[in-house]
Amino acid sequence: MEAYKIQQHKFDVVVVGAGGAGLRATFGLAEKGLKAACITKVFPTRSHTVAAQGGIAAALGNMGEDDWRFHFYDTIKGSDWLGDQDAIEYMCREAIPSILELEHYGVPFSRTDDGRIYQRPFGGMTTHYGKGTAQRTCAAADRTGHAILHTLYQQALAHDATFFIEYFAIDLIFDDEGVCRGVLALDMNEGTLHFFRGQAVVLATGGYGRAYFSATSAHTCTGDGGGMVLRAGLAMQDMEFVQFHPTGIYGAGCLITEGVRGEGGYLTNSKGERFMERYAPSAKDLASRDVVSRAMTLEIREGRGVGEHKDHVHLNLMHLGPEVIHERLPGIAESARIFAGVDVTKEPIPVLPTVHYNMGGIPTNYHGEVVQKKGEDVDSVVPGLFAIGEAACVSVHGANRLGSNSLLDLVVFGRAVSHRCAELIKPGAAHKDLPASVLDKALARFDGLRNANGGTPTAKIRANMQRTMQEDAAVFRTGETLKAGSKKISEVHDSFKDVRVSDRSMVWNSDLIETLELSNLLDQAVATMHSAEQRQESRGAHAREDFPERDDHTWMKHSLVKVDEAGKTSFDFRPVHMYTLTGEVEVVPPKKRVY
Ligand SMILES: Cc1cc2nc3c(=O)[nH]c(=O)nc-3n(C[C@H](O)[C@H](O)[C@H](O)COP(=O)(O)OP(=O)(O)OC[C@H]3O[C@@H](n4cnc5c(N)ncnc54)[C@H](O)[C@@H]3O)c2cc1C
Repeated sequence: MEAYKIQQHKFDVVVVGAGGAGLRATFGLAEKGLKAACITKVFPTRSHTVAAQGGIAAALGNMGEDDWRFHFYDTIKGSDWLGDQDAIEYMCREAIPSILELEHYGVPFSRTDDGRIYQRPFGGMTTHYGKGTAQRTCAAADRTGHAILHTLYQQALAHDATFFIEYFAIDLIFDDEGVCRGVLALDMNEGTLHFFRGQAVVLATGGYGRAYFSATSAHTCTGDGGGMVLRAGLAMQDMEFVQFHPTGIYGAGCLITEGVRGEGGYLTNSKGERFMERYAPSAKDLASRDVVSRAMTLEIREGRGVGEHKDHVHLNLMHLGPEVIHERLPGIAESARIFAGVDVTKEPIPVLPTVHYNMGGIPTNYHGEVVQKKGEDVDSVVPGLFAIGEAACVSVHGANRLGSNSLLDLVVFGRAVSHRCAELIKPGAAHKDLPASVLDKALARFDGLRNANGGTPTAKIRANMQRTMQEDAAVFRTGETLKAGSKKISEVHDSFKDVRVSDRSMVWNSDLIETLELSNLLDQAVATMHSAEQRQESRGAHAREDFPERDDHTWMKHSLVKVDEAGKTSFDFRPVHMYTLTGEVEVVPPKKRVY
């Protein structure tokens, strides 16, 4: 192995990721007097959070009656009873102060006539426990993520946080007692290796949408945090639950926000029929995303799709009029024009369910501390390791996330981590001495991939992975396709042994970076497909045609999956937290699903 020179840096806390979650944590830590580093592979304001359109949920009640308890109930119901209720209670209560803080930090929210934060209705959001419609989603036009991310970055700069931009985190470093001590990273610009020491490491690396061929997420969403966690021998949670957003632009995959339906847009099939009325008579086009995606897939399957191949449906917003579109949905009009060649004031947008969000991820408690099952202790904390945002599974979204609850999750749990670290960590405390050999394993893997001399280029393995996931871990799943899919994805994982990296340099080696990313994606693709195969029920986004019912008796539990170096999976389970922190509201699942 080539001798690499490693530069060491010492911080109180090291945050990996500068999306909404990472930035909220970073500046919260700095604000509390902790020395915080934020490592990010892309420039902070290019993180995927910038693309979030529709908004961020909080029961502010600015545009009608609302209560955090209604939000709590909707989130549990939306999660199809797989969400941990203590964490959901924490999120829905803390939503209100968290959003008001954002407003004070400077997020330019859209306004009501009397100057309050504008709120729009979103799918699955109700008042009085399912009776009315809540207007709960706070929006900055249709560019809410952009507004939040820029404000958070400005706040992080205003406080004393140190950014390491265009640094790629490779692996977590643990001591021999299993305490996370830092992270090994590559400065992509200089081509140098760095060991970031921290009393805690916070993974805020986002989702792994790019395991699929067609996804609304950025090409950088490669689940690097999850890959690092699996390589550390830790389990990931609920990986079978992948959300398909009903309205990706047909062909391009870019997102058309649910806010369009919130503002009154609706879906039609080839007969011009508003088919959602049949599937969800009360919520209609604003039923939760899993319900709408399945309805669209059924319409297409039964021959009522539109277009030459009858393989998509239409989203109509012409009736809203140019004024509303211009004021509330300007970005959508632009995306539809560029990616579908459509003038939304005159024609419908062609849309198709597209991979959008990973409910599964690194298991944590509501402080953001990573937890694992250890014997009898089902929530044993991994010392020194935190995870937040889409990389994590708190689990507030359970089997299906409600729209506008993710931006909320980023902010609430990013904030929670800064509170927790301030409790646990003394600023400037000494770092434990570690032998140089702690880096050996991570360095050997890095060196091996840098010099990988096999016969298959990275892009080919990636294409095989994306195709397999798209075909066999889709909106509808059956035992047969999942069995075949599991076999195929394991073969693709196996083929990584033969990967070829042609560029050997250390500086801006995109071939190497894409290979490191692919390795992270592959482990999670395997975890997703195998987890889907073993869960024999339908719940939230996981729709099994061979097991169409939710089976609370056997399956109301989180699945935990480990993936070893050879790509072999092993499973275990954790109970769902059916209790809250305050006991103020109690929600139990009904016997039968009603939408
Ligand atoms: C098109 C789109 C629209 C959406 N709209 C909404 C919405 O309206 N409302 C809502 O609630 N949710 C929405 N979502 C979901 C939500 O935006 C995402 O779940 C959320 O932004 C994820 O944020 P994050 O901070 O976890 O990660 P990201 O924003 O994805 O950021 C990840 C960060 O990690 C860094 N990183 C990753 N790997 C490494 C590595 N190896 N080394 C160093 N750094 C690394 C990246 O540089 C980046 O800074 C939307 C998602 C998409 C794709």
